Amino acid sequence: MDSLIKETTPQLSRKRTQQKEDWKCNKLKKERYTPKEPPNLRLPCDHYTKAYRCTSLNHADIIAMNKAFYKKPDKIYQDNFIINHTKVTTTQ
Ligand SMILES: [Zn+2]
Repeated sequence: MDSLIKETTPQLSRKRTQQKEDWKCNKLKKERYTPKEPPNLRLPCDHYTKAYRCTSLNHADIIAMNKAFYKKPDKIYQDNFIINHTKVTTTQ
């Protein structure tokens, strides 16, 4: 037999449950880590060296990278994204 008891939405429920996404601090935190404006597609430089290949980037790459970075409005996710997409080398 199927279960007849189902969880109701917080608006209909008699017991008041925590709705953490509605908290003011969490709304501000979410707003802080969402993009304020669309990505700047104009390249500020014209590097094409061994280390920097800025001119080989096209608009789709920039948009895709920006979208992947702002996938979650969360500081930990965005910090990990930067760590995953950078390479650490020792100084010479
Ligand atoms: Zn550059």
